[in-house]
Amino acid sequence: MATKKDYYEVLGINRDASDDEIKKAYRKLAMKYHPDRNPDNPKAEESFKEAKEAYEILSDEQKRAAYDQYGHAGVDPSMGGAGGAHGFGNFSDAFGDIFGDIFGGGGRQRSNVYRGADLRYNMEISLEDAARGTETKIRIPVMAECETCHGSGARPGTSPVTCTTCGGHGQVRMQQGFFSVQQTCPNCHGTGKMVKEPCPTCHGGGRVKQHKTLSVKIPAGVDEGDRIRLSGEGEAGVNGGPPGDLYVVVHLKKHEIFERDGANLHCEMPISFTTAALGGEIEIPTLDGHAKMKIPAETQTGATFRLRGKGIKPLRSNANGDLMCHVVVETPVKLTERQKELLKELEEINLQDSGKHSPRSKSWLDKMKDFFE
Ligand SMILES: [Zn+2]
Ligand SMILES: [Zn+2]
Repeated sequence: MATKKDYYEVLGINRDASDDEIKKAYRKLAMKYHPDRNPDNPKAEESFKEAKEAYEILSDEQKRAAYDQYGHAGVDPSMGGAGGAHGFGNFSDAFGDIFGDIFGGGGRQRSNVYRGADLRYNMEISLEDAARGTETKIRIPVMAECETCHGSGARPGTSPVTCTTCGGHGQVRMQQGFFSVQQTCPNCHGTGKMVKEPCPTCHGGGRVKQHKTLSVKIPAGVDEGDRIRLSGEGEAGVNGGPPGDLYVVVHLKKHEIFERDGANLHCEMPISFTTAALGGEIEIPTLDGHAKMKIPAETQTGATFRLRGKGIKPLRSNANGDLMCHVVVETPVKLTERQKELLKELEEINLQDSGKHSPRSKSWLDKMKDFFE
């Protein structure tokens, strides 16, 4: 047994290899050493058997865990049956009384009960839905308690038996040099029970992958990154443990017009230069329709107008934010000859007053002059 090669070495993989990597490595070796391809080659046959054995152990979650902890002794096929349970018989014999001391009473039960995992669900919603709130249905994959065996993992009519490796404690004590280390039982994974006849639906796991449809209420005012907790809608617990929670994480879709900044909304507001110069009234979009806005005369690009209360009411607030409109004066394009004529005439009149009508341009030109002198 001492000369037996390490299974990971046989397959040429790392100890943390995934199931997929194990499968791939085995397939490669099996192709290479398959007896059909290597007639009358005892060495190839030997390698083929080695690879097959390594694969059988490492592709089985329970056997792999046992092998990782105890090496070949934990899974040696020569020690009877499918390996695993029988190989450990002596552990519980040797340490049974120690366990008895440590695990007296209720401690045992507690160590076997696990809360189900929390789940996360990313949900993209429109800005409108975030502002008003919405209700939507989601379909999520969950590990749920198997209905056939009610989570026990045993075929109906049978029941799980006490694990022979750990004597039902779920933990084994290992001697490592001078230290004795307590570890989760590799045979029953800490449940303390073994299933002799697995349930046909869940294959002994006690849980099955299902999809469930949930209705999610998105409260008005949610923002990017907000989490909505659906208590108890996560994965089912193990051995009667409570289920985990489901967290729906909100993401906002990009909006064509508005950008959100907490309670406030921002938008760009292009206006013609005539409106900018003379003033006027324009219609602007809001999240719940339209609003009219007065543009004062002599409005410049970059001016910001605030529409009070036309923003969003955040989740934990009772006041609406504002809508901030950022003015961009639009230069007219595709002008006709007539329009150009008028603009030139306007420009000539403007220039006669020496910068009076364009104070910013004038001050800028003056600074330039100072700079070059
Ligand atoms: Zn089942
Ligand atoms: Zn056990």
